[in-house]
Amino acid sequence: MLWPRCSSTSIPNRRVTTLLAVVLEKVIKKRMSLPAQMAIGMALGIVIGVLAPAVGLDASWFKPLGQIFITLIRMVVVPLVFFTLIAGAASVSDVRTLGRVATKTLVYYIFTTALAVFIGLLLANLVQPGVGLSLSTENLTAKQATVPPLVKVLTDIIPLNPVDALAQGRMLQIIFFALLFGFGLSMVGERGATLLKTVDGAAETMIKVTNMVMLYAPIGVCALMAVTVATHGLAVLLPLIKVVAVMYLAALCQILLVYLPCVKFTGLTPSAFFKGMAEPLIIAFTTCSSAAALATNMQSAQKLGATKTVSSFSIPLGNTINMDGSAIYMGVAAIFAAEIYGIPMPIDKQLSVILLAVLASIGCMGVPGAALIMITMVFTQVGIPLEAVALVAGVDRVMDMARTTINVLGDATGALLVTRLEEGKLKPDEANKA
Ligand code: ASP
Repeated sequence: MLWPRCSSTSIPNRRVTTLLAVVLEKVIKKRMSLPAQMAIGMALGIVIGVLAPAVGLDASWFKPLGQIFITLIRMVVVPLVFFTLIAGAASVSDVRTLGRVATKTLVYYIFTTALAVFIGLLLANLVQPGVGLSLSTENLTAKQATVPPLVKVLTDIIPLNPVDALAQGRMLQIIFFALLFGFGLSMVGERGATLLKTVDGAAETMIKVTNMVMLYAPIGVCALMAVTVATHGLAVLLPLIKVVAVMYLAALCQILLVYLPCVKFTGLTPSAFFKGMAEPLIIAFTTCSSAAALATNMQSAQKLGATKTVSSFSIPLGNTINMDGSAIYMGVAAIFAAEIYGIPMPIDKQLSVILLAVLASIGCMGVPGAALIMITMVFTQVGIPLEAVALVAGVDRVMDMARTTINVLGDATGALLVTRLEEGKLKPDEANKA
């Protein structure tokens, strides 16, 4: 009697074992690309996350493995950006070229971020994710983000001590100093040639270091995914599924209506674009930190054809100030919270949400959960109680996965678009030469 049952379970088991063996062989013999390995890591992480509570496995066990990955990829960011930007600025013979690149980049950033909030607001108005939902707001509290005055934001771009800026990883200050240093280096001429070669060499070395670090990515991604799924499973998600769905739908619209037309203009096909972007996108999705995806985002954009001059400037800048995903979220969350509290949102209030969300997203940092703090700025201005933040906090990780992916995608699209505008076409061979 037992025999048939045994055979019916052993055949699928054998199949799974064979599949695992084939995958492992491909990975070991390096026949599988890194993005494919990362995708498998992610899928495996989901399976582990789902099964972990059932078999009594504590998901926090995986946390250190994920943390190692985040620290490794953040470790390379400051030296990579610093050296690449100096080398990039030193190779620009005319300062006006960089001025043009900066202007086009900033116009693109502001325009696409405003569109992002608009899309978020529009979809939230149509779907009305908060209508009919009764969530208790008793005992909920939230801290308000204090917004620094604009003058301070601008004067803070200049570092008092560049070494301190590097040590603290203050990206805008690093960009400012590296640009000046690069220009200075190009003015020195012959006497600066050795230093320029050294900086160039250091930038190339950091690319190799990044590649080394990325070998760990499949394990890191698997661990991060396992923890996320185990701690933010369906039970947490279900009550707020509508608002999460609106966020993902708006993210999809931003890709289809804003990024893909820009990508098409550069001459890339959507499939080539997404294939080239797979690594930074998986990192963004699993770590919820665009700062962690910065190094691979620069590399991927360059491989797709963004020039070093444009990408080494615009991607670190975008990483700090261009947060389209976070902006979408602010629009969606504002409408959601207003519906829960029964606060009317006439058109003038919604227009002010667009303006405020653009500003708040500029101040948003590339770390997990940053938008949840910055959104208090929008809520205060339009009269939504701050406790509303706590209502969406439970599903923030899931929302953040979409936000960060869009944040990273927006920066790469900008670098490709500005390269196309500057050069007339993309330059994929430049990265291959390195
Ligand atoms: N986690 C996002 C990022 O790193 C920021 C946010 O929206 O919270 O880009």
